[in-house]
Amino acid sequence: MSEKRVCAYCGEEVMGEVVRRGRRIYCSEACAFEDSRSLDCAGRTDVSRASLEEELKFREHPPIS
Ligand SMILES: [Zn+2]
Repeated sequence: MSEKRVCAYCGEEVMGEVVRRGRRIYCSEACAFEDSRSLDCAGRTDVSRASLEEELKFREHPPIS
């Protein structure tokens, strides 16, 4: 059984050697570098998570006009 390995950054299927960073795999050092850099900057995932919570609160308690 061979597991399909896909680069965590560009989404390309990885043939041969993979570059590992923790639990993620990449097709090249460049992708590993770019992905770790994008994770470090600004924390976009945190922002979207916060806005989702706001959205759910808004639905539970709609403002009465
Ligand atoms: Zn890649």
